[in-house]
Amino acid sequence: MTADKPRAADLVRPSYRRMSLYTSVRAPVALDLSDNTNQRGVPPAALAVARDAGPEIYARYPSHYGADLKRALSDWLGVGPDEIVTGCGSDDVLDSAIRAFAETGDALAFPEPTFAMLPYFGHMNGLVPKPVPLLGSDRGYDIDAEGLLATKAKIIYVCTPNNPTGTLASREAIEHVIQAAPGLVIVDEAYVEYAGESLVRRAKGEGRLLVARTLSKAFGMAGLRVGYAVGAPELVAEVEKSRGPYKVTGLAERMAVAAIDHDRAWVERGIAEVVAARDPFIRALEELGLAPLPTSSNFVLVPISGAKAKAAALREKGVAVRPFEGLAGIGDALRISIGPWELMAPAVAALREVL
Ligand code: PMP
Repeated sequence: MTADKPRAADLVRPSYRRMSLYTSVRAPVALDLSDNTNQRGVPPAALAVARDAGPEIYARYPSHYGADLKRALSDWLGVGPDEIVTGCGSDDVLDSAIRAFAETGDALAFPEPTFAMLPYFGHMNGLVPKPVPLLGSDRGYDIDAEGLLATKAKIIYVCTPNNPTGTLASREAIEHVIQAAPGLVIVDEAYVEYAGESLVRRAKGEGRLLVARTLSKAFGMAGLRVGYAVGAPELVAEVEKSRGPYKVTGLAERMAVAAIDHDRAWVERGIAEVVAARDPFIRALEELGLAPLPTSSNFVLVPISGAKAKAAALREKGVAVRPFEGLAGIGDALRISIGPWELMAPAVAALREVL
């Protein structure tokens, strides 16, 4: 007689048993306002690189840590190449940073609600997630700096503009967290291009601040998976170790470099279109009797009952948005990406029919 073989589920590490696979509906739809990507498509210089790429880009390994991409980012952002770590999307950079700076069992603090992947990254790395509710609407949905610090977490994550609320963390609250945190502070600026001021320069010479950014949103390259973070050289070297080599493909690196070197005006025009459409879209939502949160991003969060059913009804009309159920302090809500006005007008029409 042989002993019973363990089931696969018994082999998995205990912290993984709390996790489910990340899934969201990804069926094609006429107007996809569900993932806050760039509605204008891909920067033209990047597309030209893809068109002209020779076979060696596929047959050979890329550079270990994205040296050319660091050069381009360095020229653009005015920080040293040794202050930049790149990755397979900023997801990869965030995950690697969390792994580099906390041991199994340490706490990971973040505002709630925030980027839905944060608890995943915590569990994946054996950390204990410590969600801290955002302050209320009367405080502009600012982060609760004291609450985050009170967790004494080894890593504190702040997202500004915050996904899914679209709201900003005040500079004052962020500074307080940076000054008083016992460990690493990650500021996620995935949507900063739509908001203005970045902390990238602030990360220079600050030993505990890592500012994560991405080419998935304003730069229109979500499918290529290119993210990066800026911090002191000693910090980014540790993230790089944890991340490992070859995470940005050769083609993605070349396309990203072309976009950063040659297409920043194209990116700026896209940002200007979103900013121009933002207030009229908010006003149109208010005219429908809705009460959207104030937004500094390329999306807006709209509290609404029965969000899941409403999102399904909108999908029937060819418009995809992201439903949330029971968000802390907010309840059910739809998160709707904002693009140029010619796309928002049909979205308003579909919403009018569904409400
Ligand atoms: N941070 C935030 C706040 C996000 O919303 C996203 C994407 N949804 C990411 C990071 C990850 O972006 P990517 O991996 O595409 O760079």
